[in-house]
Amino acid sequence: MRLSPSPLISAEQIRQRVAHLGRQIDAEYSSLAGEDGLIFVVILTGGLFFSADLARNVNTPLRFEFVAARSYEKTQSNGHVVFTHRPERSLEGKHVLVIEDILDTGRTASAVLDLLKADKPASLALCALLDKPSRRITPIQAKYVGFSIDDHFVVGYGLDYEQQGRHLPEIFTLERE
Ligand code: 5GP
Ligand code: MG
Repeated sequence: MRLSPSPLISAEQIRQRVAHLGRQIDAEYSSLAGEDGLIFVVILTGGLFFSADLARNVNTPLRFEFVAARSYEKTQSNGHVVFTHRPERSLEGKHVLVIEDILDTGRTASAVLDLLKADKPASLALCALLDKPSRRITPIQAKYVGFSIDDHFVVGYGLDYEQQGRHLPEIFTLERE
């Protein structure tokens, strides 16, 4: 795995942006979600690091659920997304924010939103750390976006290259070998 010599997004840039997103989420949900709180539905595995840092910048009462989605390459043109883990508790009547590492074609997030809609949450929105709008196939917009980036393959801060590099505190672009 060969990464760009310097990060595309530094740890400090991420820290500041995540803190800002936390304040925005509080402004929106602190009264809305009430005592019942807000539910982060984290898309595994990439959303793990982002959601953990974001949660520590949120003061609204918060619960976590997780979804794991796999999109099969052979059927990718069909946007075939299969869930290997789903929320354990019902989201009915809850305020739900889906936490995604990166919005690329939009298929994964769109399939997750469709899955969760069936539970009839009180509100359902999407928060993505990164957005590659030029790659979008399924029209979908996140309510909160950390950084909008060009069409690079990025690694770090939850994002992997063949399961490597998720733990890096910065975000790098992958360079061709
Ligand atoms: P989508 O369904 O929007 O095409 O893709 C979403 C998923 O593809 C993301 O959750 C992520 O796992 C993966 N992905 C898309 N772009 C990148 C990227 O630049 N780097 C990495 N590491 N994963 C990506
Ligand atoms: Mg992935």
